[in-house]
Amino acid sequence: MIPNLEQLRKNYEQFDDKKLLRIASEEAARLRPDALELLKQEIARRGLTTDAAKADILTKEVNAEELAGHVETLRNLPCPICGSTGEKLNATIVSNVMSFIVFTHQSKEVKIACPRCLNKQNNNAMVKTALLGWWGIPFGLIRTPAALMFNARQKAQNDLPEANDLFKSFVYGRLGRIEVNKNNPEGLQDIITHIR
Ligand SMILES: [Zn+2]
Repeated sequence: MIPNLEQLRKNYEQFDDKKLLRIASEEAARLRPDALELLKQEIARRGLTTDAAKADILTKEVNAEELAGHVETLRNLPCPICGSTGEKLNATIVSNVMSFIVFTHQSKEVKIACPRCLNKQNNNAMVKTALLGWWGIPFGLIRTPAALMFNARQKAQNDLPEANDLFKSFVYGRLGRIEVNKNNPEGLQDIITHIR
């Protein structure tokens, strides 16, 4: 059910400042226009004047050049895993399958790191999956080879000299947070390290 505007307004009124700003910086781009308008009104009503509250910057149309600029900025950060700045960062998805006889657990996780660390992440997942994935019936038998292939396919994207599509969409999905933290290297590092 889509909440009507009155319900939405009440919701926003109940959220504390922190939550409101988090929505503005992380989810504004996904809100429908009337919901976004309400959010901006509520932020203005409370007089929240931090960078994040200037919701316009968070939802403005980014042009390709700005997006490319953000991609470059993030790719040049130190690798969240090994700390090196020798190679530009990229993104991968790590797929793990673990089975416990009748129970098969599958996880997929986005990782940002240097190509070497990304490969290591996919390799570790393949070893773990190959050892622990098969033992579930029937899903272990189905999901294990799929995860092995999935990791292998992901690895092909790790060493690309340019940002892979996953990295670009990672950046695109976090434009608000990146914009707010653009002069704050620690904030940017946090975006690629603690992925949410
Ligand atoms: Zn690394």
